[in-house]
Amino acid sequence: MAEQVARAADWLTIHEALARILDSVRPLPPENVPLLEAVGRTLAEDVVSPIDHPPWDNSAMDGYAARAQDVRGAGSATPVVLRLLEEVPAGGFPTRPLGAGETTKIMTGAPIPDGADSVIRLEHTRQEGDRVVVLADTDAGRNLRRRGEDLRAGARLFAAGRVLRGGEIGVLAACGRPHVRVHRRPRVAILSTGDELVDLDRFDEARAGRKIVNSNSYALAASVLASGCTPVLLGIARDERTDLREHLQRAFAADVLVTSAGASVGEHDLVKDVLRELGFRLDFWRVRIRPGSPFSFGMLPRPSATAPARTPAPAVPAAAAVPTPEHTPDYAPQALPVFGLPGNPVSALVTFQVLVRPALRRMLGRRALHNVTLRVRAAERITTRPGLVQFLRARLEPDPAGRWQARLTGPQGSGIQLSMALADALLILPEDAEVVEAGQELLAMPLWPVDAASEPLPP
Ligand code: AMP
Ligand code: MG
Repeated sequence: MAEQVARAADWLTIHEALARILDSVRPLPPENVPLLEAVGRTLAEDVVSPIDHPPWDNSAMDGYAARAQDVRGAGSATPVVLRLLEEVPAGGFPTRPLGAGETTKIMTGAPIPDGADSVIRLEHTRQEGDRVVVLADTDAGRNLRRRGEDLRAGARLFAAGRVLRGGEIGVLAACGRPHVRVHRRPRVAILSTGDELVDLDRFDEARAGRKIVNSNSYALAASVLASGCTPVLLGIARDERTDLREHLQRAFAADVLVTSAGASVGEHDLVKDVLRELGFRLDFWRVRIRPGSPFSFGMLPRPSATAPARTPAPAVPAAAAVPTPEHTPDYAPQALPVFGLPGNPVSALVTFQVLVRPALRRMLGRRALHNVTLRVRAAERITTRPGLVQFLRARLEPDPAGRWQARLTGPQGSGIQLSMALADALLILPEDAEVVEAGQELLAMPLWPVDAASEPLPP
């Protein structure tokens, strides 16, 4: 163990740690899913429009199609009278081109008759039998939507790597796509360790003061779901070799393993011992952050990869040669990324947000990997210990000028779960910060949603 620790990197900056992590994980292969199952997922194909949309020049208003030159100068004192040719409802098509002094009644979205270049809104007109009186010329040359002004046939609308939300789903539907190719969701195995832990079915022992509920597995599973991935709960492993090994081996059903507790690799630690027996290669441990410094990361070879390879594990497909979904081999890179999170509940969630989420984004196929940060002001004076980059739990609120300010959610100990539960964001204090004055500008990493800080729209 000691020699492995000696080879692994130690006390990395957050940037070094993230660079190593992101270098070790790859996007999962694509699969074809029904359109509505693609919401929140990442495109694994470029999307090209097969059609022009709208398919014809059409009206942006209910009104009368006309020629600008005929209606220019119209006003209430100088009305212009046009002759009504026909009426085109939505879904109908005009049958007659427009000549001088002529008009066609038209509904929003209906095709513009040939010869027209304007739609005069109803409110600016009065119809008298087959005569249409135009009382204003502000719509001359207006209210036309051109064929293909939204989507143009052959144009690339979205590049692979884009996250699909309501807007994109609507465009895909407009392109006639019942299915879309997205990256498979990572399955994230979650293992808690520790003899002091029980699950919810044994809460009576926690109530009696003899055990602690395994809250980390739930908090981490929720975070995995919020990241768009699928949690695989491996339960609680006792601090005992056989039990640990049995639990760890079940992680091979997943794409990633996240463990909580027992992360202090430097000391005698069963989790790392058993992992090492399974061939684990520790990449680094300890990151210069608080909370969460005893974080570790490494790769665990899959059993098929350690045994003399009879059926070599399929390589990660190259972006250029994406196989069809029908022929996608199950993703099984030769080693499983393993994130060793500290056991303290706040440390576990902070390190998940800061160090695990970017890796999951890469596995999800996203291009934008990093956590968003906002410039905010400290709502209060904060005194602290320098030496590590700190992630304090804070609520975001508007200051009197309407700018974001961050207020700490109470005591900041790494065992204070409520500090995390009440937070909208992690307020980032640089390594050398000793005192932060109220009003000082800092970066905050939102833990969306920030509903708690929501405000009605201004009147
Ligand atoms: P450890 O990392 O094992 O030293 O644990 C640090 C602290 O986190 C201890 O107070 C543990 O009881 C607590 N802890 C460890 N695992 C969990 C868990 N799964 N759920 C809640 N608390 C935990
Ligand atoms: Mg423990």
